[in-house]
Amino acid sequence: MADNSTASNAEPIVGPFTDMVQQFPTAVWNAIASNIPGDLHWDRILITLFFAILIFFYYQGRGSKGADGYERKVGILQFLLPVDIYTHVSARVDIWLWVLERVLRPFWVVALFATVGPYTEQSVIAGLEFLLGATPALETNFIWMLLYALVSLLCYDFIFYVIHYTMHKIPALWAIHKIHHSAEVLTPLTRSREHFLAGPIWAAGSALSFGFAAGLFAYLFDGGITQATLFNVGFFSFLFGLTGAFRHYHVQFRYPRWLEKWIQSPAMHHTHHSYLRKHWDTNMAAVTSIYDRMFGTLYIPEQDEYTPWGIGPETQHEYRTFWQNTIGPFRDWYKMIASGSSPQAGAAPESD
Ligand SMILES: [Zn+2]
Ligand SMILES: [Zn+2]
Repeated sequence: MADNSTASNAEPIVGPFTDMVQQFPTAVWNAIASNIPGDLHWDRILITLFFAILIFFYYQGRGSKGADGYERKVGILQFLLPVDIYTHVSARVDIWLWVLERVLRPFWVVALFATVGPYTEQSVIAGLEFLLGATPALETNFIWMLLYALVSLLCYDFIFYVIHYTMHKIPALWAIHKIHHSAEVLTPLTRSREHFLAGPIWAAGSALSFGFAAGLFAYLFDGGITQATLFNVGFFSFLFGLTGAFRHYHVQFRYPRWLEKWIQSPAMHHTHHSYLRKHWDTNMAAVTSIYDRMFGTLYIPEQDEYTPWGIGPETQHEYRTFWQNTIGPFRDWYKMIASGSSPQAGAAPESD
């Protein structure tokens, strides 16, 4: 701020308190920047834009949705960065919820990966030794490393499904997860739009699933195996992680129908965020369609299916601002305790 042109060349003296205050934004930024999830990396956003441009030309301006959830034909700028979506209050609230969650996230991740992870891993190894005897100490090769990456992903997807399903079905947990669904428009940041209380739940799930796969493969290979990687992350996690960036984007990325029965296309997550009753509690896994198919929650939308996003007109006005979303679960729990019943929820009991 200082006007250096009139000041002397000497640096002004900065006391420790001023220094601390000046460093604060940097510290907060570091905490955020070091915890940006993989699917928010700029490279992935650029890949998303690249595919969106291809879709724009292929479908001649069709294939993107507006804030109202209807597919429409638009020019390229409106296709990639629609004004009605990016100026929506929901998109702004996404940013603040994301910042709060990112700042708190390191604590959950460190705490849970340091406890749940190793505990699960050791329990699996001990359990297998008890059931099957000493480790067979297999020789590792690339195929096994690929398999390890695949099993890790399938474990993760399963635990993700179970947690997600539970959050949709149990009102006290839906009160937390509802904040993800109160998004009225989808932007890449909606991926991380969560109530801060959801952080430890997802982190515990990740630690549990990766700990389980790690224990299984550590037993088989006497501890000596690593996952096959692509760009330094698990092979399949990288490939499928790309969909994390796409699926909270308003452009419909579709796969052929047969493939959507195996892998969730980003467009399938558009229905997960819709408040239409037929879309409630569908497509709940993160990556594959296997578990949704097994448990009857798979929903493959038609081309350009109408998907109005949010929790529905009845309760949406209670979940618009950052503050409303932050106190939301506490308000719901209070109502539940006070009335002895579950509060109205946008989604809840029946699955499709
Ligand atoms: Zn959900
Ligand atoms: Zn979502």
